[in-house]
Amino acid sequence: KGHQKLSSNAYIEHRSPFRDRTQRGAENATMVMLVRNSELKGALESMRSLEDRFNRNYRYPWVFLNDVPFTEEFKEQTTLMASGETFYELIPAPDWDMPEFIDNDKFEKSIEEAIKKEVIYGFSKSYRNMCHFNSGYFYKQERLLNYDWYFRVEPDVEYMCDFQYDPFTLMRTKNMTYGFVIAIHEYENTIPTLWETVEKFMEKYPELVHPNNSLDFITSGESDLNHNVPLVRSSSKYNLCHFWSNFEIGDLNFFRGEAYNKYFDFLDQAGGFYYERWGDAPVHSIGLNILADKNKIHHFEDIGYYHPPYLSCPSSVDVKAAKRCVCRSRGSDGEKLGAPVDVNVYSCLSRWWRYGSGKTFL
Ligand code: GDP
Ligand code: MN
Repeated sequence: KGHQKLSSNAYIEHRSPFRDRTQRGAENATMVMLVRNSELKGALESMRSLEDRFNRNYRYPWVFLNDVPFTEEFKEQTTLMASGETFYELIPAPDWDMPEFIDNDKFEKSIEEAIKKEVIYGFSKSYRNMCHFNSGYFYKQERLLNYDWYFRVEPDVEYMCDFQYDPFTLMRTKNMTYGFVIAIHEYENTIPTLWETVEKFMEKYPELVHPNNSLDFITSGESDLNHNVPLVRSSSKYNLCHFWSNFEIGDLNFFRGEAYNKYFDFLDQAGGFYYERWGDAPVHSIGLNILADKNKIHHFEDIGYYHPPYLSCPSSVDVKAAKRCVCRSRGSDGEKLGAPVDVNVYSCLSRWWRYGSGKTFL
């Protein structure tokens, strides 16, 4: 029992090396991955990386979400890769499909339009469902109601450094709401009317705008000159900065709370998830920048992270050495190599340091 001799000289263990899946990490937290069956290989690669760099010492569970049932192969292989418990959840159709109040003709037209304008992923209906789901429904899934914290993982990503601590514990003890690694500019033609919708929301619900918000991070113009004036109603324009939401460590209670849900419902009713191609990244970020205390948003500067096409690694040589960072993506083919993003013109990180982080640089 246990080891089995194959016809070759290879020996395989037919059981997971993680026979005891008892959680060791102290937090009420889970990994969560929305993923398609066809992405099994990329899911396993992401899991391998995160398990080896972090989770094998903590054994937090994994929750997999899908709009169609997971295959047996998917379940088997990801469970063997996981160190903790695994859960496979089918998303209820009303949480995934286009809402009924969306006008189908207008939607079809917007798809044609987006194809003409070469909007990134503009042709894809399922991508719009995905962004809509990630914006307003992931945190409502029944399995996630059991948890306070989530760590969003996508297929085909890589974590470049050892964590060496439990990021969930950091979030809790430092009283954080949301953690990110990469901050970047959004493609403007995906969100033509998002900002005016957000402004209408702030007008309707001024009491929901947090007094210590980070609107200065996402608006440029007058506010740059006079950033001591608290911005509640802004006449300035969205500068397209947002946290890249394919990596998130967050407080589910923030998303489940009244403020965020009023915000999401308001955006949803405006129709831009389907008449335009609003992404969940700017939607999450703007929500946090408006509704949360900016001191509760944490930049994980010591977690190297790669999601095609960008790579971000700690800037400190000492941190990189101590955390065994490998600051290039796993692909040996030059193509998969991520472009370092933090010094890139598309990055918004320096703007976060300047306006967002609540730290003062004088
Ligand atoms: P990108 O990161 O913007 O290029 O988009 P991805 O293709 O990585 O999609 C974002 C996330 O949503 C990933 O975790 C995907 O696996 C997941 N996803 C995208 N579309 C679908 C879908 O139609 N069904 C399911 N189950 N997951 C999806
Ligand atoms: Mn992705």
